[in-house]
Amino acid sequence: MGSLDTTKKTIPHVVCIPYPAQGHINPMLKLAKLLHFKGGFHVTFVNTEFNHKRLLKARGPNSLNGLSSFRFETIPDGLPESDVDATQDIPSLCESTSKTCLPHFKNLLSKLNNAIDTPPVTCIVSDGAMTFTLDAAEELNIPEVLFWTTSACGIMCYMQYRHLVEKGLTPFKESSFMTNGYLETTINWVPGIKEIRLKDIPSFIRTTDPNDLMTNFLIGECQRAQKSSAIILNTFDNLEHNVLEAFSSINNLPPVYSIGPLNLLLKDVTHKELNSIGSNLWKEETECLEWLNKKEANTVVYVNFGSITVMTSEQMIEFAWGLANSKKTFLWIIRPDLVAGENAVLPQKFLDETKNRGLLSSWCAQEEVLNHSAIGGFLTHNGWNSTLESVCSGVPMICWPFFAEQQTNCRFCCNEWEIGLEIEDAKRDKIEDLVRELMDGEKGKEMKQKALEWKKLAQNASSGPHGSSFVNLENLICDVLL
Ligand code: UDP
Repeated sequence: MGSLDTTKKTIPHVVCIPYPAQGHINPMLKLAKLLHFKGGFHVTFVNTEFNHKRLLKARGPNSLNGLSSFRFETIPDGLPESDVDATQDIPSLCESTSKTCLPHFKNLLSKLNNAIDTPPVTCIVSDGAMTFTLDAAEELNIPEVLFWTTSACGIMCYMQYRHLVEKGLTPFKESSFMTNGYLETTINWVPGIKEIRLKDIPSFIRTTDPNDLMTNFLIGECQRAQKSSAIILNTFDNLEHNVLEAFSSINNLPPVYSIGPLNLLLKDVTHKELNSIGSNLWKEETECLEWLNKKEANTVVYVNFGSITVMTSEQMIEFAWGLANSKKTFLWIIRPDLVAGENAVLPQKFLDETKNRGLLSSWCAQEEVLNHSAIGGFLTHNGWNSTLESVCSGVPMICWPFFAEQQTNCRFCCNEWEIGLEIEDAKRDKIEDLVRELMDGEKGKEMKQKALEWKKLAQNASSGPHGSSFVNLENLICDVLL
């Protein structure tokens, strides 16, 4: 293991550029803070103009002033201007960032390299879905590390696309394949994954259309990853050991560093200014923490579907009655754009019935909520950040994956880590049963026990001096970035 040498004459300067969505900005900001604090890097953090405006609106006009050695810059995302306070359309954003951002990014790098008060850029840490940045790194002859903000199992499945095609499993011949028993097909040849169903493979590569934009985008990004100096994953060795080990069997893949959970690695960073820089694109409603303070330990079901998931009004009503009929206390975060194409409206009868035991809010400080002793379980869409945050807090889950590799995360939660119950069919009776099982049932108790064991392992991985992720982060800094 190398030791950190921050005494080099020129201060190293890392440019961190996340994919412009909440679930990517959050872990990238954490990593940027760690590089600043632990590695002594001068940091430039690049947001899109659209997100920068939203961050300022959510967190206050001075919230991104940064420090003299931790600064924010912006580039346009290439989409038409908009003031809408919602997640942008993901396929359009992928298409536009990959096609339009490179010249803006290069201009920014050259501005930074010409500025008298800024050290020259020495490396780039880019989101794995922003590989256009590799061309800029190549031009400057500096190392670039790609940060895939997914689980290791998720990214491993994305990398199997060609094999799935060769075996005739995808693209699906007709759309009925999406719903019939075909999805139960067992796959037992993915490196590091014993057994998985076709339905657990990321949604973007289970398609009927070989020209599907997201499929092709992600396959292209996986291929281009070969050009990077290293790959970073926000996971830890004990959690995904077999998959992490199996990356070495993939041809031409650069070294993979598992350096998560980043939130735990960041826990020891006691730097007031750094700690106060946040990344929530929506304004955090703080009343839910006060409300939780009045609740007994392990009694509240926390419901949150992240920043992108959308559902129909009918689905939302099924969730509402499932929660109401379980008679459990719940905190349900309903993003203003959660219901596709319309405002979320819940039946008055549901609101009346649950007014003494349910709190509805629009956005919260999720990590704080999950760490609150009142939370007994998490009904989640299994975005990787939410999943990992739940692991870190020792909170078992009910899983309703929406898209991308959330299906793979759900499979791992339920089958490998034994801390999740899957919703197969989001109908009120099923939801009610699962909520009761999670909060009161035998299986729920076992899952809580397991979740506490994973929490301990996550803490060990991120603790110095020997935790696997702690060591990997040091090695990444010394061997690749410095
Ligand atoms: N989040 C939050 N408050 C909310 C909802 C989400 O702070 O009310 C954060 C959450 O802690 C996580 C991120 O937003 O870090 C969502 O990322 P995830 O990968 O779970 O899902 P995505 O939004 O990408 O689908």
